[in-house]
Amino acid sequence: MLIAGNWKMNMDVPEGRALAQVIADRLSTHSHSFDGVDFAICPPFVHLQSVIDAVDSVPVAVGAQDMHAEDEGAYTGDVSAPMLTSVGCHYVILGHSERREYYDETDADVNRKVKQAQVHDLVPIVCVGETLEQRESGEAASVVRAQVDGALADVSIEDPGGLVVAYEPVWAIGTGESAAPEQAQEMHAVIRGDLTERYGAAVAANVPLLYGGSMKPHNAYGLLSQPDIDGGLIGSASLQADRFLGIAEEAESVLKETTS
Ligand code: PEP
Repeated sequence: MLIAGNWKMNMDVPEGRALAQVIADRLSTHSHSFDGVDFAICPPFVHLQSVIDAVDSVPVAVGAQDMHAEDEGAYTGDVSAPMLTSVGCHYVILGHSERREYYDETDADVNRKVKQAQVHDLVPIVCVGETLEQRESGEAASVVRAQVDGALADVSIEDPGGLVVAYEPVWAIGTGESAAPEQAQEMHAVIRGDLTERYGAAVAANVPLLYGGSMKPHNAYGLLSQPDIDGGLIGSASLQADRFLGIAEEAESVLKETTS
């Protein structure tokens, strides 16, 4: 179960370092073992080094929220995959709906970045999800399938650990209104089916599929207990250690329940 925080454009560097330090301290002293729970934090670029330093002694991976598809060059304001790996990033979020909406990122852009991430051994967290309008017109599954197909065109995956897909319905992001567990499961099953056609059942079954969109401690259990939901991509609740770790506690409870 992967519990990943997307800090978006929040906090200054000292505040981010302090939050990462609290998370690290709680993980090293916590009464919960968080067995089977993997953690990731995806802060803004300028926080990466201090967050990586803060979580150095605990099993928390760090990721970026985007990157350029080229190694280097005249791309003012951008950050490349080699830069991310040079500071110790493991993950990179790609195709978040905010980037699709505000920066007109297309599936083809996401696809180029996925390929670039693979070249540099970064694990892409590919975000897909429909708008409310698309859901209401019955297109949710076809939109999400098209996004998965677009992002993964000509991408081969042999190691399921080399890819994460996050289903993030746009209408649930930052709204406080998460998808119902059954709604989320239905879409995760669509994504799992697509990955199965693409990479075969053995790989597809082990690609982590995260749910994102107003996941909080109070709704995490219902979402995380669905068979095709393997974790969460968490926005606003990842900005407070109590809420972020509260979701991880729910993940731990789900895991205990399924193994007992
Ligand atoms: C996100 O943007 O990735 C997200 C899941 O945000 P929130 O949890 O705030 O809805």
